[in-house]
Amino acid sequence: MHRSNARLARIRAALLALSLLMGAALAHGASAHSQATPVPLATPVASHPTPGAAGIGDPYFPLLGNGGYDALHYALDLDLDVTAGSINAATATIDAKATQGLSAFNFDFRGPEIDGITVDGEPATWTRAGGELTITPATPILDGASFQTIVRYHGAPKMNGDRFEQGWWATGDSIFTVGEPAGSDVWYPVNGHPLDKATYTMTFTVPAEYEVVANGVRASVAFADGVAGHPSTRTFVWENAAPTASYLVTFHAAELDVSMTDGPGGVTIVEALPPDLPEKDMRILDRTPEILTTFETLFGPYPFATLGNTVFEDTEFNAALETQGLISYDRSAVREGTVAHEIAHQWFGDSVSLERWQDIWLNEGLARYAEVLWAESAHGEDAAQAALRRQMSALATASRGPEAKAMTIGDPGPDHLFSEIVYAGGALLLDDLRHRIGDDAFFRLLREWAARHQYGNAATTDFIALAEEVSGQNLDTFFHDWLYEPWTPERVADRYSLTGTPVD
Ligand SMILES: [Zn+2]
Repeated sequence: MHRSNARLARIRAALLALSLLMGAALAHGASAHSQATPVPLATPVASHPTPGAAGIGDPYFPLLGNGGYDALHYALDLDLDVTAGSINAATATIDAKATQGLSAFNFDFRGPEIDGITVDGEPATWTRAGGELTITPATPILDGASFQTIVRYHGAPKMNGDRFEQGWWATGDSIFTVGEPAGSDVWYPVNGHPLDKATYTMTFTVPAEYEVVANGVRASVAFADGVAGHPSTRTFVWENAAPTASYLVTFHAAELDVSMTDGPGGVTIVEALPPDLPEKDMRILDRTPEILTTFETLFGPYPFATLGNTVFEDTEFNAALETQGLISYDRSAVREGTVAHEIAHQWFGDSVSLERWQDIWLNEGLARYAEVLWAESAHGEDAAQAALRRQMSALATASRGPEAKAMTIGDPGPDHLFSEIVYAGGALLLDDLRHRIGDDAFFRLLREWAARHQYGNAATTDFIALAEEVSGQNLDTFFHDWLYEPWTPERVADRYSLTGTPVD
């Protein structure tokens, strides 16, 4: 994600209020903040099916994700009314494997009206409270069993203008879906935490004048003549075979110019752009293959089958998001540094994902530092130094902000995931690390990080351990100082001699 805002507070407040309602979800307390690996909220009892936990165990967001099962594949079939911004009819078919005996289980779902739910073909009962959908199957699910849930629903997902949680954006002649850390659960039922990645088949039926692009590979397009006063339609099927965190799932339905071309290394380059996109923006996005090639040299093989860009109408989203294999841009967000940032996220954030949201610096520090690396590669050392100085200024400015009091890079708090303390501070940490361990060890660290945790999850403790492994140095004090000591204005000024430096 690019850009910052403090409105996460509302998500957190809503989630906390809901967690009080739901009692059991807060079974583990603040001590979990210091743990590297999230702890399941409920202890499974092998012989006796019990309800799965309402959250996956993220200390920042206790109700994100769910416990008791591993979602494997989502088949989402949506018939869309683009002009109304609503879902005529949707079917979500979710294949999962139980990790405990389940008398009931949850999805995160803030979506519209549910028409029916089955589990393994049998009608199930359900309740909804806030963002939690609790399903009770006719027959309890055995520990280790595979099971299939089908949820049918329809209606218009709610929009509140909050880019961090809205998830569904309808403009009158387009619909797009983006939201980090939690947005997907407004349009489909999901185990909505990066710890439970899954593969996807997404099918969209729209009036025939619209295109739909989504994550993965376009498998088919079918045209159907209109009948009984209904318009002709096109049905697009997108297959996404790479494990994907739910906040990186996206589609964009609009009148778009769509192209698919062979890019470097057999990666398909997808462009899905509004016909009136200015030429200067097209030229920026056209650098995608070149950036891909540069980052493959630095980070190792690109992890996905596609790399694409889609540009939305301007809305309050007003940002770019590294949606997997198909990057999402608001028009105002199309800038060369941002394009490099979002492409770097495909390795750092998308393929290697967080275990817990507290470690967001691993995503954003690496993506921001990749902007510096791209400047260095494409425009030379002076450009790289200028990019670094912008990070110093950004950290200095953020450290003086009212929200920055005692904020740390490694534990910014759930309301400040997207602070410049995290972004610029994370980038400067990495630059300092590069000087400390040398270019050879630093770039081996980045490549090994991307390879070892490809398609999986990892935590700050894993990154520190790997940095020590590749460098042969004890870096505990280095990382502690950077990550867990607050970046006060005095400390930033002392470190970077920035007193009086104008901030751009
Ligand atoms: Zn980002």
